[in-house]
Amino acid sequence: MPREILCLGIESTAHTFGVSLATGKGEILSDERSVYKPPPGRGIHPRESAQHHSQVSSAVLMEALRKAEVSLKDVDAVAFSQGPGLGPCLRTGATVARALAKYLKVPLIPVHHAIGHIELAALKTGAEDPLVVLVSGGHTSIVAFSAGKWRVFGETEDITLGNLLDGFAREAKLPSPGGPNVERLAREGRHLIPLPLTVKGNDVSYSGLLTQAVKKLGEGCRLEDLCFSLQEVAFSALAEASERALAFLEKRELLLTGGVAANRRLQEMLRIVAEEHEACFLVVPKEYSGDCGAQIAWTGILARQAGVSVPVERSFVKPRWRLDTVPIPWRKP
Ligand code: AMP
Ligand code: MG
Repeated sequence: MPREILCLGIESTAHTFGVSLATGKGEILSDERSVYKPPPGRGIHPRESAQHHSQVSSAVLMEALRKAEVSLKDVDAVAFSQGPGLGPCLRTGATVARALAKYLKVPLIPVHHAIGHIELAALKTGAEDPLVVLVSGGHTSIVAFSAGKWRVFGETEDITLGNLLDGFAREAKLPSPGGPNVERLAREGRHLIPLPLTVKGNDVSYSGLLTQAVKKLGEGCRLEDLCFSLQEVAFSALAEASERALAFLEKRELLLTGGVAANRRLQEMLRIVAEEHEACFLVVPKEYSGDCGAQIAWTGILARQAGVSVPVERSFVKPRWRLDTVPIPWRKP
């Protein structure tokens, strides 16, 4: 019997440098990562994050191979996140991937980062044809598969949900990443402070909400109440937009993925939406919710099996790459 194909995946779109090894059977043999943390009060500086990635790349790679108990010569394909993301960070990961693919004489597989979040969540939950709510630092999108592509049925009109939580956390001098700290403090919140909830059709908008929340912080509102209110308003807007898409598409599964999917209150709200529409609520396991090599390695397997690869000479990164432009030959139309 031929052995299962083995794909090495590299993630480097923003804060995380990750390497994972996945097999054609859907096993994640290892998933190693190192996360760049900006100094308190600052967001990610692309060049500094890229420097972090180049400093840790060889240690993360070696540890991923060691934990998977494989050697480089066992690798059949090298996948990398081609975009979207921060240019310098993407280029660092792509450089490592190109060098490995050339040296090993194996195909180089370009992966769209957001599709990586979706496919890994589908693998881990068994979702087949879900309405996906993808919420992370880089994305806030409500998508479903139709006619060969993931189609966007709703999204943020400005900043992402991850940006909203991280941006607010920075203003409140909370450590990075902000989302888990906002969640922790929100549990101590008692009063709902009025903040603007904006839903336009199936889209949400969060920048006005951030401005108002920061203004209330300056006016001396209790931080715990503000974290609680920020979550309630931001998640309600997303739940409303998701519910519209679910009612329209009549999907039987609602799949939550991306870094913010780890939030228990968001899970609770979307579970209610799913149950009201007799859909099964699925959420990516916490260890795979944030950026990781596994999302790239597993999508690399799917893409490779469908014959996708890119010549090294044409493997330019794509910092602005919309997920609804990517053909998905491995899913049934
Ligand atoms: P990603 O870009 O997919 O790695 O997701 C990172 C984002 O997820 C950051 O904005 C984090 O603040 C956010 N995040 C991680 N854990 C949580 C949580 N428990 N609640 C809310 N946001 C979270
Ligand atoms: Mg991400």
